[in-house]
Amino acid sequence: MREQYIATIGLEVHCQIRTRSKMFCSCRTSFGEEPNTNVCPTCLGLPGSLPVLNKAAIEQTILAGLLLDCTTPEISKWDRKNYFYPDMPKNYQISQFDLPLCIGGAVPLYEHNYPKDYQKNIANPGKNVSLNRIHLEEDVAKSTHLANASVIDFNRAGTPLMEIVSDPEIETPEEAFAYLKTLQQILIYGGISDADMEKGQLRCDVNVSVRKQEEDELGTKIELKNMNSISAVRRALHYEIERQIDVLEEGGTHVQATWRWNDDAGITEFMRGKENAHDYRYFPDPDLLPVRSGAIVDRMRSLVPELPHEKADRFEREFEVTNYDANVLASDRALADYFESAARSSRAPAKKTANWVINTLLKHLNDDNLTPSSSPVPPERLAATVDLVEAGTVSNNQAKEVFEALWETPERDPAGIARELGFEPADTGAIDSLIDEAIANNPDKVAEIQSGNEKLVNWLTGQVMKASRGKANPRQVTDSIRAKLL
Ligand code: ZN
Ligand code: MN
Repeated sequence: MREQYIATIGLEVHCQIRTRSKMFCSCRTSFGEEPNTNVCPTCLGLPGSLPVLNKAAIEQTILAGLLLDCTTPEISKWDRKNYFYPDMPKNYQISQFDLPLCIGGAVPLYEHNYPKDYQKNIANPGKNVSLNRIHLEEDVAKSTHLANASVIDFNRAGTPLMEIVSDPEIETPEEAFAYLKTLQQILIYGGISDADMEKGQLRCDVNVSVRKQEEDELGTKIELKNMNSISAVRRALHYEIERQIDVLEEGGTHVQATWRWNDDAGITEFMRGKENAHDYRYFPDPDLLPVRSGAIVDRMRSLVPELPHEKADRFEREFEVTNYDANVLASDRALADYFESAARSSRAPAKKTANWVINTLLKHLNDDNLTPSSSPVPPERLAATVDLVEAGTVSNNQAKEVFEALWETPERDPAGIARELGFEPADTGAIDSLIDEAIANNPDKVAEIQSGNEKLVNWLTGQVMKASRGKANPRQVTDSIRAKLL
């Protein structure tokens, strides 16, 4: 961004809540069914049908609020947002206007959630972006525009939808990226949503304006639609901020409007103008009673899980893993659980277990397109494999072969696999004579070691490892050399 300009960004995120049934009827919310099969008079908006509140959706929204430090007003209510569009045949959406379920709160921008290429020079480390509100509403039907017709699927209509509105406190495309990643991570952590952008479970509208540094008043805001990934939001913002500055530099002005991001062309395109404030003629929905939420807040408070940053801190303290490893492990709740049970059932230092989880397990999961909770190898067996190395039964490389075999036949015992692969616990007598041989063959190195150059112990260990064709346990060899020479 050119130096004399500031960008101001606010994000509105719509997130589908993971419930079995819809917001105001008992139709299922499952994804990918035949079009217009999960429907009833209520979610089709037929005259005379009446809405009934989904308790789970209210609970999950309040839980999201607790995770993000929001407050919940004692009473919240339901309002009709009136507009005319085929995706909402009753011509209003049931939403919340002046008394939403959650007010205030903030999204912390976790450093590991910034784009990788930006993590070395984060402008505002530790920043939190304040939230304006979170309200609950119903999703609309999905229209698809074909060459000669438009078709509409009501399976999605009435799915519980949370709208999370940030304050305009985001200053760069990279902060917007970190905001969305962190929000997504926290919602998944809380089990509130799968928050998959590709499935439309998380959708994002971006408001952005630019102004000169010395100006106090915000510039005219442009809304960007059609964001289908978090990295697209970053790309779109970079383009749009530069475009807005160009217009101002050429003496032009902006009109409040909605633009769309064309990810293939890499440009924003004008979509439609927007009057200053849409007149949705909100009014209270006469079919629904307000919600008194005190008891729900108390109940949900006991269900608040440990958040990713809290878990990472604890891993660093309790297991003495590095800050980086702690964040990788805590980034996914199932991965964190996997690591924790492996570390607890292993005798090896947790640092080693962490290495195995991050390097070996994650690689195998990625290769097979699996998630931590669907790993064929349970945490106890990974721990047993690490323990084989720790006990000196196999070398680290041999353990990797054991894990390879374990991945194919996870019901087997790692120690049994090691035996079958011929990884006998090293014959200590034989190794001992290899050590003596190495010492006898290298009198000059031995002299150097004994006069204080202890680094050469590793070199000598290497000679023994080579002679044993990798069968010896390097740590035991080193210990034994030290015992003999020092
Ligand atoms: Zn329905
Ligand atoms: Mn909305």
